[in-house]
Amino acid sequence: MKIDHIGIAVKSIEDSLGFYEGVLGVEQAGREVIEDQGVTVVLLPADESRIELLEPLSEDTVVGKFIARRGEGLHHVCYEVDDLTKKLDDLKSRGLRLLDGYPRRGAEGRLVAFVHPSSAGGVLVELVEKRTEGEG
Ligand code: ZN
Repeated sequence: MKIDHIGIAVKSIEDSLGFYEGVLGVEQAGREVIEDQGVTVVLLPADESRIELLEPLSEDTVVGKFIARRGEGLHHVCYEVDDLTKKLDDLKSRGLRLLDGYPRRGAEGRLVAFVHPSSAGGVLVELVEKRTEGEG
């Protein structure tokens, strides 16, 4: 399975870019606000994968609460799957705990869903549907 991206929760994208852009020399590939998830997202290319910086829109969001509880740092790992709906049905039939249980629109308008850390060895796992032909 390909790792599409690794999500990192940060208090301030601007401050974090001081490290990623200023020190590592990585250039951001895109920035967008995802109201649904309460975050501003910046994608930083890393070979075929990306680092996804997540800055909460407010303290009262999932990522805002995560930072308040655990501080900045690794938030989730995102794997690419061929058919997200099919994969979610499979995970549900195996009794895994999912955050929503159905696909939602994530960064770049792609379909995503999350597996709860309690079903994935303590790591929040995001699944994203593979791009179809003609998309991005
Ligand atoms: Zn993500």
